[in-house]
Amino acid sequence: MCEHHGAATLTGTVSPPDPAVEAAQVRALWEPLGLPGIIDVHTHFMPTRVMDKVWNYFDAAGPKIGRPWPITYREAEDERVERLRSYGVLAFSSMLYPHKPEMGAWLNAWSAEFASRHADCLHTATFFPEPTAGDYVRDAVDAGARVFKSHIQVGEYDPRDPLLEPVWGVLSEAQVPTVIHCGSGPVAGEFTGPEPAAGVLERFPDLPLIVAHMGMGEYSAFLDLAERYENVYLDTTMAFTDFVEETMPFPEAERGRLADLGHKVLLGTDFPNIPYPYAHQLEALAGLGMGDDWLRAVWHGNSARLFGL
Ligand SMILES: [Zn+2]
Repeated sequence: MCEHHGAATLTGTVSPPDPAVEAAQVRALWEPLGLPGIIDVHTHFMPTRVMDKVWNYFDAAGPKIGRPWPITYREAEDERVERLRSYGVLAFSSMLYPHKPEMGAWLNAWSAEFASRHADCLHTATFFPEPTAGDYVRDAVDAGARVFKSHIQVGEYDPRDPLLEPVWGVLSEAQVPTVIHCGSGPVAGEFTGPEPAAGVLERFPDLPLIVAHMGMGEYSAFLDLAERYENVYLDTTMAFTDFVEETMPFPEAERGRLADLGHKVLLGTDFPNIPYPYAHQLEALAGLGMGDDWLRAVWHGNSARLFGL
């Protein structure tokens, strides 16, 4: 991986990069493009006890993940927000997601409050297939939610579940996008893969979906969906990094479509839950050689347009 990794300890944890040093690294990547800053559509902020559980999951790096996954930015919430700001991140999200019923509305209340305290956070909401989902999703949209998160692997649900019909209906009508982790990487689930998501789009062809991780695991099939449906986007989260390329390399043969779909690719990172420094995601994208216009669109323009920023 890259040379500016934090120091590894015996427990497999890493010390976070010095904020000032990494801010300079990140800014040196986007400032020469003449951008006002970057927009990161896929970052995680959650209630502390939920985030602790997520970190414990990655710490365990158990049979599901199958490799060490040290969380690079295990810091207090305010420090994580300040990091993003100092890196020139103009807008970010607070991706959160339930793994069981009767959590969605509570998570949405937390993220609404978080967004009210952070003007640069895109008000994020989520849902789970349950009888109340349609109502609390409508409430969240009415309250100003700008983006939703659906995690098919963690939630272990079928996005075609009839209980989600009213959810997709509201989100399609309101044109509020959902970042959907529906690819089979890094961990496959019963309902991950392109078919369930494709089924939702057949039913709701105008639904705005942002396929997380470039559809990692099934890159080509999700590029197909982005080509076929006007409102389907892809986020770059973890894709193209050394960590992912080792096990799920982006197909060389798809570089042409990656270039052509540059207007539908959005910067996402998974900060803070990443096993490498933030700068590495940007370096990996710059290293693709797609050109400055592509980078300007992916790092800023596409999300600025989609979210009206
Ligand atoms: Zn994520």
